Amino acid sequence: MSADNDMQPSEIARETLRQLAMRRIPPTPDNYLTLYNEIAGTRAVESFPLNALKQMTAAMPAATAEQVRYGRLLDNAIASGNWDALREAWQEIFERGGSDPLPWGTMLKDLLTQLEVRSAGLTQAKKREALDHVLRASGSADTLFQRLQNVVRHWSRNTAVPDEAAPPATASTTGEVPATGTQPTIIVAKPITGELRDLLARVLEEPVHALLHDAPELAEQSVQLARTVRTAQQEKQINDVLSQLKQFSYRVSYAAEDQVELKAELLGVLQLLIQNIGEIVIDEAWLHGQITTVSDLLAKPLDLRTLDDVERQLKDVIYKQSALKRNLLEANDRLKQMLATFVDRLGDFSSTTGEYHDKIEAYATRISQARDIMEISSVLEEVMRETRNMQINTARSHDDMNTMRRRVSDAELEVERLMAELSQASEMVRVDPLTGALNRKGMEEAMQREVARTRRHNAPLAIALLDIDNFKQINDQLGHRTGDLALQHLAEVTRETLRPQDTLTRFGGEEFVILLPDTEMDDAVKAMERVQRELTRRYFLSDNNKLLITFSAGVSVLGDNEEPGDAVRRADQAMYLAKRAGKNRVMAS
Ligand code: GH3
Ligand code: MG
Ligand code: MG
Repeated sequence: MSADNDMQPSEIARETLRQLAMRRIPPTPDNYLTLYNEIAGTRAVESFPLNALKQMTAAMPAATAEQVRYGRLLDNAIASGNWDALREAWQEIFERGGSDPLPWGTMLKDLLTQLEVRSAGLTQAKKREALDHVLRASGSADTLFQRLQNVVRHWSRNTAVPDEAAPPATASTTGEVPATGTQPTIIVAKPITGELRDLLARVLEEPVHALLHDAPELAEQSVQLARTVRTAQQEKQINDVLSQLKQFSYRVSYAAEDQVELKAELLGVLQLLIQNIGEIVIDEAWLHGQITTVSDLLAKPLDLRTLDDVERQLKDVIYKQSALKRNLLEANDRLKQMLATFVDRLGDFSSTTGEYHDKIEAYATRISQARDIMEISSVLEEVMRETRNMQINTARSHDDMNTMRRRVSDAELEVERLMAELSQASEMVRVDPLTGALNRKGMEEAMQREVARTRRHNAPLAIALLDIDNFKQINDQLGHRTGDLALQHLAEVTRETLRPQDTLTRFGGEEFVILLPDTEMDDAVKAMERVQRELTRRYFLSDNNKLLITFSAGVSVLGDNEEPGDAVRRADQAMYLAKRAGKNRVMAS
């Protein structure tokens, strides 16, 4: 019945039930659904057997972590209710676990089966013996698995197939009951032809013996067996030989497996070693290339030719390494020597110049960027050269400095000497260098001389003391230099106005003492007033400015028994009074 797109769901349902009855199909939900889809012309969506699948996974073994993981993987996929997810989970399990997710379980099941079934030429005792041997001789789980699988394969090949060379196994010797209903196979030894016997013996003595080089015990056994093969004549002896040969073949095959494994291990170690060398000398591009070549060679299946290549390449690597090591040691020695010298020289420096400092900084940068020791040593050589130059320069400037220092100290001594001379000379000088008047010392001498003369001639000696008015102002307003010039101007006008026998002395600062021999009080006062008038006439010019210099003066006449110092003091007091009286005047004491 074909689908009709126009059919209503209720009509399809009715038609489905009719067809179920007509075709006598059991009315299960699945059948109903299939038929419904067929009538409706819709795609048959296969229902997801959630519960059935759940039950299946629940029954799966969960003894190992791997089994638990696989169970969980399936559970999740089933829970999603999606066929695609389930397919992916199965695929993953098969990829991870190979074709058999439980290889040990399957293998052990097969082993037990094979142990029980009768095999051609193999008694159960022999099977147990073989098993015992495998169990004792296998070091790792993987090896054990491999060997047990080999045993299973071997036994299954021999199942119910008569083996002509196998020793007889009877129920009486093994105590076993035929499991499959076949009769115990009795192997009748056929006489070995002379040629075959000889060949077998030779194979055992020569190639087999040679192949067993790494298993001396078996090699020895091989020679003994060859001897037995040659001498066995009786049927029993021949059967014994056959039995021994079988045993021997087992042991040889295990030894061969051991050797294959050993070879693989050794190869692994070698690869690791090569890889390590590659990492150690990673900076040396050439050596790195060689290492890669050796690694590649080792990755190929091993044969003598390949090994030859590897050996040659390794010798190259070793040679290059020893050369490198020599270079490194030499460079290290050079570096150490240079550093020692460098540090010595640095210690010699009393100072460093900026230029040298800059260069050293640049070298330091280059050293830090250097990729190998040879590069460092070449930079250091430059540093040394620069340092040597610097040392020479320093020594030179050191010499220059010493010369300069000597000269300076000589000059200092000279200055000291001159200063001493100068002060000695000034002791002797009686004239004030600025004004040309006598200085204090000169005044004292002049005073002594004039006093003596006055006393001798009984003549009067007038003493005038003048002090410039407001002199501080001149200094403050026009500068000290103008002040000096003003002092010079006053001294000049005074000298030129007074008599030649009058002595002008600079008493200190802007104070002058004038000794007027043979002069009475009035004449002395008049003389000083004359100087004042003259000063008003002769302006002091400062930068084209007319400047009037005035002074106040006091005059005393030396008493008969008076000390000259006291007379000067009296003149000073009179000068003070003139100041108090309004300045620019002369007072008699
Ligand atoms: P007064 O009228 O009361 O005398 O006032 P003054 O300013 O003249 O008196 P004061 O004693 O206060 O100031 C004197 C000034 O003379 C102080 C000092 O700096 C100045 N003087 C002293 N000796 C020299 C000198 O050799 N050269 C110059 N330029 N100034 C001097
Ligand atoms: Mg004064
Ligand atoms: Mg004054």
